[in-house]
Amino acid sequence: MSDCLFCKIAGGKIPSTIVYEDESVIAFEDINPQAPVHVLVIPRKHIPTTLDIKEEDHPLIGLMFRTAQRIAEDRGIAQRGFRLVMNTNPDAGQSVYHIHLHLLGGRRMHWPPG
Ligand code: AMP
Ligand code: ZN
Repeated sequence: MSDCLFCKIAGGKIPSTIVYEDESVIAFEDINPQAPVHVLVIPRKHIPTTLDIKEEDHPLIGLMFRTAQRIAEDRGIAQRGFRLVMNTNPDAGQSVYHIHLHLLGGRRMHWPPG
């Protein structure tokens, strides 16, 4: 998708602070962090929302969670705890329509979320 911000980041057309990348996923620092650790994990494949995930994407979704798990361990927040969030559509505040897993940690999280 040529007009998608996260496709541009995945393609290196827009700079980002990349934490991890391989042939399937990329992780980069959120530009407006909401916690001491705030990393976004995205698939290279353009999938607009969680509602568009197909059966063929299941391994890819697993890789996104596995990537988040590794980054949480690398950042030393795995045992303290962290939050993984995927916002879907306007009521959840989704602002970029290319699925992304928020990895948030390094502080106490509140529940329920706002
Ligand atoms: P959401 O509101 O769930 O769609 O999350 C979108 C996230 O993308 C927000 O946390 C933004 O701060 C983040 N974001 C937007 N533009 C960029 C960018 N150029 N680089 C890194 N993160 C971004
Ligand atoms: Zn995209």
